[in-house]
Amino acid sequence: MQENNLICPKCGSKNVLEILYGYPDYKAFEEAEKGNIILGGCCISDNSPDFHCKDCNYEWKKEK
Ligand SMILES: [Zn+2]
Repeated sequence: MQENNLICPKCGSKNVLEILYGYPDYKAFEEAEKGNIILGGCCISDNSPDFHCKDCNYEWKKEK
């Protein structure tokens, strides 16, 4: 079970989407259509953010 308790570190919004990298499969496309995730494209770098806030457009990386 996956917990979805992501909060934007900038504005505190819970309107946060995960950014998925790599070539999306059918399910990823569906989720993106529904607005549940964002497709980040196939090129991931060390600076690529993992999350996107829908309210303030802030993007940040997952804490390790
Ligand atoms: Zn925010």
